[in-house]
Amino acid sequence: MPLFSAFADAIVRPLLAGGLLSDTDRDRLLDELPRATGPALDALARAADAVRRVRVGNTVSLCAIISAKSGRCGEDCAFCAQSGHHRTAAPEHAFLAPPEITAAAAAMHAAGVARFGIVASGKALPEAELARAADVVAAIAATGMAADASFGVLSRDALVRLKAAGLAAYHHNLETSRAFYPHICTTRTFTDNLDVLRTCKSLGIPICSGGLFGLGESWADRVDLALTLLEAEAFSIPVNFLSPIPGTRLAQQPVLSRDEARRIVILLRLLLPDRQIRICGGRPTVFGPTTDNLAPMAAGADGLMVGDYLTTNGASLDADKAGLEQLGFVTPP
Ligand code: SF4
Repeated sequence: MPLFSAFADAIVRPLLAGGLLSDTDRDRLLDELPRATGPALDALARAADAVRRVRVGNTVSLCAIISAKSGRCGEDCAFCAQSGHHRTAAPEHAFLAPPEITAAAAAMHAAGVARFGIVASGKALPEAELARAADVVAAIAATGMAADASFGVLSRDALVRLKAAGLAAYHHNLETSRAFYPHICTTRTFTDNLDVLRTCKSLGIPICSGGLFGLGESWADRVDLALTLLEAEAFSIPVNFLSPIPGTRLAQQPVLSRDEARRIVILLRLLLPDRQIRICGGRPTVFGPTTDNLAPMAAGADGLMVGDYLTTNGASLDADKAGLEQLGFVTPP
């Protein structure tokens, strides 16, 4: 009698033993997963969840972000409400005053959220704002919270300064595969983004980097992205599902189905068995507003962004924590 299903059992056996998927098993997975539905998909989700329990444990990693600087971005990311190439209703504001950022971090810390990411729009945070950003990182780190930052394509010197201030991790999504990236952004290259991760790695700065799914990418693109993140040694993999925003180039892109989003999480857990697979933006768009929207957490994920996202609303933190406990996760007090 199989534990999950004959196929899922065979695929996850090496992962439960501490290894990675072989090339052959990856091909078999790519053959089955995109068309798995009903009981076959449920079995793969339970198998990915078992890999999660064995490889990274039951304690969920919660994080929250603040949009410290919003809009007015010169980049042309096809999905982004903050791009100056799009006409959207996204808020526009300069880098917030430090007390506003540290107060938001303190509120999340008090609610049991361990990581706080400061996010700024734009290709790279300008030098004039870097000193203020480094002060905020230092203030948050001093409280015992993990202070993360997402300031774009920063120079090595800027990353050194943030690290010295107490940066816990640098966040910079690759978004999609190298091959598909030019369909999503033309004002920077995939290599520009990957170089940021390489610089972080060389400086010993932990890397949080993942992708946005539902852009029209193929399964091969998803696999390529996962393997690039594996090689880049990202410890945390944010998984975002597209919320098509009016006024952006992807406004008409269909929202992923719940099953397709679950398949993506399963794929990432099976290709990246010992990383934090962190469900971030687009969860309510794909999975709805109720606790059902924790379904990806039962498909192999172990991290969750709580509170609001950059330009869309999130779920209630209390509801998320209650739902996670029902799924068997250990949540912070
Ligand atoms: S994703 Fe970032 S870099 Fe791209 S347009 Fe939006 S704010 Fe600018």
